[in-house]
Amino acid sequence: MLTEVMTPNELKKIDPVFGQMSFDDHEQIVFCNDKDTGLKAIIGIHNTVLGPALGGTRMWKYNSEWDALNDVLRLSRGMTFKSAVTGLNLGGGKAVIIGEAKTQKTPELMLRFGEFVHSLGGRYITAEDVGMVTSDMDLVRTVTPFVTGISEENGGAGNPSPITAYGVFMGMKAAAKFAYGSEVLEDKVVYVQGIGNVGEALVENLSNEGAKVYIDDINLERLEEIRDKYSVSIYTGDNLYGEEMDIYAPCALGATVNDTTINQLKAKVIAGAANNQLADENKHGMILREKGIVYAPDFLINAGGIINVYAELENYGRQEIIRKTENLYNTTLEILNNAEISGITTHQAALDVARARIATRKKEK
Ligand code: NAD
Repeated sequence: MLTEVMTPNELKKIDPVFGQMSFDDHEQIVFCNDKDTGLKAIIGIHNTVLGPALGGTRMWKYNSEWDALNDVLRLSRGMTFKSAVTGLNLGGGKAVIIGEAKTQKTPELMLRFGEFVHSLGGRYITAEDVGMVTSDMDLVRTVTPFVTGISEENGGAGNPSPITAYGVFMGMKAAAKFAYGSEVLEDKVVYVQGIGNVGEALVENLSNEGAKVYIDDINLERLEEIRDKYSVSIYTGDNLYGEEMDIYAPCALGATVNDTTINQLKAKVIAGAANNQLADENKHGMILREKGIVYAPDFLINAGGIINVYAELENYGRQEIIRKTENLYNTTLEILNNAEISGITTHQAALDVARARIATRKKEK
């Protein structure tokens, strides 16, 4: 068959794994299947130069196996750079389980998945992601030590979301310092989009500092609950992007900075928890730069969660978790300055730091 006349789906199947668009020299990709429990999972190990590949397990009802593979390739690569830029001795990995968590996640399936993780001998260490809760990790812990994000009762570091939010708060302060000359967020108008686990804790930090916080979510009950708890305002309009604001904090979904929204944005700073905020890293990163909007790279400022689970491997306590998370302020500021000096996007500047760290370690090996 001629490649010019093939559909994108047919093209994908020419080189089903190494030819995938998201394939980026991943070290190992493991397909896990268990007939008895219905488990179908893929573990992606992107890079282990800095240490074992750590990253959460996502359970999702993917439209196709191609989508699942693409997701695990993309997410595991992201973990490599997140840990590298944060200064952790961890590689990048991720796992996806194909299926709907609400109806198909059984204890047997999770245990079988844990056994597959165990079979990799520690090259991959799992944690929770979408579709997983702390008790799932506790269960996996019964069959393998290569799991983090377990409950405090079982000796783990517990829920990472408040730490993730604190890191985002630090990154936001660094971006404010860069954009406004001061890290103080008092009286700054901040829109928090998505007030789930991370969004709520971010709202708490912001309102304690005296920022003027507007909250947005698709869950109306949640909006009212958070408004009453922290005395913040609910955004009632229908196009948040065009609103006058100082800081936009995406804490729900990815790709909200895209072709449609980017020219409406009036914020001077973008700093939030959501992964993959830029629909197109290069194109939208460059447009933000040209518009003078300071973008704090998502994979850097949302690293609090991985700092929290890393504590379980390195046996450090709360104080060190907080110290490392607060250091995201310095790293973010340094990266924003580097980007300015080199005339590149902030996303690229963060990637460059991560890649340089990996390259140096590789030479030392
Ligand atoms: P969550 O599921 O608890 O909260 C997400 C919130 O966004 C929910 O309240 C949901 O109703 C809301 N939402 C969904 N679609 C929306 C829309 N279109 N507009 C407005 N609100 C919408 O998730 P979380 O744990 O708070 O994580 C938030 C984001 O941060 C995710 O993108 C996640 O991948 C990322 N992240 C989380 C962590 C962590 O430690 N939890 C770490 C790193 C990155």
